Amino acid sequence: MSIPIYTYDAIVVGAGLAGCAAARELQNAGKKVAVITKLHPLRSHSGAAQGGINAAFSDEDSVELHEFDTVKGSDYLADQDAVEFMCQKAPQTIRWAERMGAAFSRTPDGKIAQRPFGGQSSPRACFAKDRTGLTLLQTIYEQAHRAGVKFWDEWYAADIIYKDGKVSGVVAFNIRDMQTVIFNAKSVMFATGGYARAYKINSNAHANTGDGLSIVARHGLPLEDMEFVQFHPSGLSGNGVLISEAARGEGGRLFNSEGERFMEKYAPNALELASRDVVARAILNEIREGRGVGPRKDAVYLDVTHLGKELIMNKLPELRELAITFLGLDMIKEPILISATAHYSMGGIPVNIAGNVRKNNDELVEGFYAAGECSCVSVHGANRLGANSVLEALLFGRFVGKTMVSEIDNIELRPATQDDASTALAEIDFIIGNNGDERVPALREELQQCMTANAGAFRSKETLQIAIDTIKSIRKRYQNIRIQDKSKIFNTELQEAMEFGHMLDYSAFIVESAIARNESRGAHFREDFDTRNDEEFLKHTMAYMDENGAVSLDYMDVILGKHELKARTY
Ligand SMILES: Cc1cc2nc3c(=O)[nH]c(=O)nc-3n(C[C@H](O)[C@H](O)[C@H](O)COP(=O)(O)OP(=O)(O)OC[C@H]3O[C@@H](n4cnc5c(N)ncnc54)[C@H](O)[C@@H]3O)c2cc1C
Repeated sequence: MSIPIYTYDAIVVGAGLAGCAAARELQNAGKKVAVITKLHPLRSHSGAAQGGINAAFSDEDSVELHEFDTVKGSDYLADQDAVEFMCQKAPQTIRWAERMGAAFSRTPDGKIAQRPFGGQSSPRACFAKDRTGLTLLQTIYEQAHRAGVKFWDEWYAADIIYKDGKVSGVVAFNIRDMQTVIFNAKSVMFATGGYARAYKINSNAHANTGDGLSIVARHGLPLEDMEFVQFHPSGLSGNGVLISEAARGEGGRLFNSEGERFMEKYAPNALELASRDVVARAILNEIREGRGVGPRKDAVYLDVTHLGKELIMNKLPELRELAITFLGLDMIKEPILISATAHYSMGGIPVNIAGNVRKNNDELVEGFYAAGECSCVSVHGANRLGANSVLEALLFGRFVGKTMVSEIDNIELRPATQDDASTALAEIDFIIGNNGDERVPALREELQQCMTANAGAFRSKETLQIAIDTIKSIRKRYQNIRIQDKSKIFNTELQEAMEFGHMLDYSAFIVESAIARNESRGAHFREDFDTRNDEEFLKHTMAYMDENGAVSLDYMDVILGKHELKARTY
């Protein structure tokens, strides 16, 4: 049976902030664009963003301070040209979002309100209560829809068509009935989001399984800085559901079992608003040293009771609901239990500022772009500051859409052939047809437990070796899986098996990149090398995977600039 081939000018995979913003630019420029998304666009993880989006425009703030905070927060690994670009364009991005219809919270005199966030010199995070991401996503999705963008909802992208240094389409199937289609196009953009689901305790949506990264890596293309996974200080105890930094931004305090406001020891100036890596490690250290609270002593207290009911109901209503639902604790009346949770991925598909995907340190892939959390541009370096990633997704999504518009007419369409679907079809056949005795949920549980225990906020050569051995063994066992559901209708078991295959691949990148980085920088903390080593490691990791799943490493220079290297203290 032949596979239908649909032809577009551009295909965007992902309908979060980055994907919707890019697609709207393409459509408005008269290009024929399709967005492929495994979720309904409004269920994309962008909609879960709570706390805010950064832009320096108040009288006390400046673009230069925003740049400095971002570079310092990144532990000097961010590329400073990309950081400058983002911080300069941030205020106009807020105005643009507002003009499209996003209603931000305001001050009593009618200005856009801004709240303090960790690692920032000035209150800089614009917000819509604690539902900032949802407000922005609804707005940009509506506007993309209004422009006439065609959304292929609940379609799963399984492969790209990549040959001779050029991408010319995507192979995807309809989750409803497994109908497979080749989307042939001059240019393709990945906006497939984050991938913290590789960890047992995480704040991410179930869909954040890093498909985009592994699809790219399977073609021998590099992934950058994968060792840098951000652990957010405040996930609800036990399940990791996020309590936004807005809680600390508004004045929330952290206490251990001895009633000590322990951040005074770790970050005497910034306290609870030091950068995320610093606060997350402080919390975990308190727990490790026996000063944890809660029934399992695996949490600390986050206390906002002193802020009062009115402020909490006005600015943090969603967070209160979450703590009541999952812990049965009302933050108006009592402290809640939190601990660090895997949250964000600084690494990803390497791109230049314009959004072109890198083939290696020197060459670009023709017709292939990426933006948002799946990409690494790199504005976050070794640690992202809160409220910088919604900004990145929206700003770069839009900007990369413009790049695609400007380059598309110079790209020749390479007609697709039936052969282009063969890898994706073989993968589906393998998963449906295999009849081994391993079950995907059990393997996934093992991987997630192992990543949290051995490749988490604290890691060492020893623990990382355990992680890589475990990944290798699970990879072998994956060859022996069996799914129960052999049907073609909403076969979520099949989809989960594919997603788990992706998780296995990019987890190997995280761990191998971390083993080789014999230093501590930002979110990557090695107990056996506990200081930053600029002489050897002020460089980006570029990792490649061969056909057998073995990962090899190369490095790329960091683009430095006016913000000089310093020791990082808060
Ligand atoms: C709970 C939470 C709160 C956050 N709060 C903030 C905050 O306050 N401020 C901030 O700056 N950042 C925050 N972040 C981070 C920020 O929300 C994300 O980094 C950002 O929204 C990512 O946007 P994106 O467009 O790159 O991806 P996403 O919004 O995650 O969208 C990914 C898209 O890719 C699609 N997709 C993925 N794989 C496939 C596939 N194989 N086939 C088809 N489609 C696919 C999905 O359907 C989805 O549409 C938060 C993150 C979380 C988890």
